[in-house]
Amino acid sequence: MKAHDGMYIAGAWRPASTGDTIPVVNPADEEVIAHVPAGTAEDVDAAVRAARAALPAWSATPPAERAVKIGAVRDGLIARKDEIAATVTAELGAPLPFSEAVHAGVPIMVAGSYADLAATYPFEEKVGNSTVYAEPVGVVGAITPWNYPLHQIVAKVAPALAAGCTVVLKPAEDTPLTAQLFAEITHEAGLPAGVFNLVTGLGPVAGQALAGHDDVDLVSFTGSTAVGKQIGATAGAAVKRVALELGGKSANVILPSADLAKAVNVGVANVMANSGQTCSAWTRMLVHTSRYEEAVELARKAAAKYGDRIGPVVSAKQQARVRGYIERGVEEGARLVAGGPEAPREQGYFVSPTVFADVTPGMTIAQEEIFGPVLSLIRYEDEADAETIANGTVYGLAGAVWAGDDAEAVAFARRLQTGQVDINGGSFNPLAPFGGYKQSGVGRELGAHGLAEYLQTKSLQF
Ligand code: NAP
Ligand code: MG
Repeated sequence: MKAHDGMYIAGAWRPASTGDTIPVVNPADEEVIAHVPAGTAEDVDAAVRAARAALPAWSATPPAERAVKIGAVRDGLIARKDEIAATVTAELGAPLPFSEAVHAGVPIMVAGSYADLAATYPFEEKVGNSTVYAEPVGVVGAITPWNYPLHQIVAKVAPALAAGCTVVLKPAEDTPLTAQLFAEITHEAGLPAGVFNLVTGLGPVAGQALAGHDDVDLVSFTGSTAVGKQIGATAGAAVKRVALELGGKSANVILPSADLAKAVNVGVANVMANSGQTCSAWTRMLVHTSRYEEAVELARKAAAKYGDRIGPVVSAKQQARVRGYIERGVEEGARLVAGGPEAPREQGYFVSPTVFADVTPGMTIAQEEIFGPVLSLIRYEDEADAETIANGTVYGLAGAVWAGDDAEAVAFARRLQTGQVDINGGSFNPLAPFGGYKQSGVGRELGAHGLAEYLQTKSLQF
């Protein structure tokens, strides 16, 4: 695949500070498909200076004009959607139809939503004898993971641009080609030089330099809770704004009155999508004891259908990690009803769609984020028990509740300590705030709430 050998800084591809590179591997066949430059603190500093220099003009650009530029980025995503899907498939391993529909499709929706919001958001309001202005926070350092390579970028860059901020992006080392393609699209869209900048590189080098840079005003990070805690600590010490989208262990609560077959089938699909590499995945299925064995059988059948349909996980490291968790589940006494730790193919980083029954709430596989195609079925005795189990992890990102009618499901959902809940299979809303309770994060992405993360307020009294 085609790759740039430089960094996109101040509106042009510029030589990196060193000749060091990172190989990009196709996880479906383990072939090296490209190399990208491994950025250093020096590259990050150049990018932050470019973003700072571009800030006065961009933040003073009327929101309606910023909206036009974001709309042009959205149009670029549409024009190059096939190339985006092929690139995500090559570096992440997602099956092409999923890359087309989700990895390329969702960012088009999200970019479009911010073109609209930039034009309509109330950047000014009256509060008694004051006028309150919502002003851009400044230079944003965005650090993104590989699981939804383009969505994670657009969910940060589009609201930052709408707010009037400028951005330096450090994408995941495993999926830098999608990030380079996005940089090309911002360029073709006519964003002024320095408004968006890209530094590829390793987390502990380029990522850490960006998170700790004195001249970055806000760090927006999506990834593991371990790294998120470090970034939060660094930002706290510098009194810097921070937004963290971290892990999850979301519960899919199936109440006794629910359509069991539908709830189980949608639940299994939710976990297997993107080979389980979704922070909001409903990885714990909670089923009433009276219908538990029926649910296990439905889940076993549903998982069997995914055998050849899911892609690999992103890397050898992730494959080893996921298989380690499956082995741990067996050791701790969970009952394997589908899949298992053996790699289903000789080549590529594949993991079998795996379902565990007889999982108890304290088991490692019921508590820790696995980030692979692994579902745990947990039995509950009554609603109070279901509530305790659902809320019984350090996480609180998403979830689902199924019941005979929406009102019953809503009443239960209101008791969940989590940022988003799908009621009876409710569909994805790109304008709904997304983010975590508890250790799943700080702040919200998407829609008007996501835009507000990039704003700070000033009040003038009359
Ligand atoms: P990660 O290390 O947290 O990576 C996320 C991003 O942070 C990447 O761009 C990464 O760069 C960067 N990074 C890593 N160390 C850093 C540091 N010290 N300072 C600044 N930036 C740093 O996550 P991962 O290793 O890719 O995945 C590990 C686990 O995290 C997964 O198994 C999963 O449980 C969880 N995860 C969650 C999400 C989510 O959406 N909530 C997404 C991805 C992963 P590199 O790419 O170079 O490491
Ligand atoms: Mg990492």
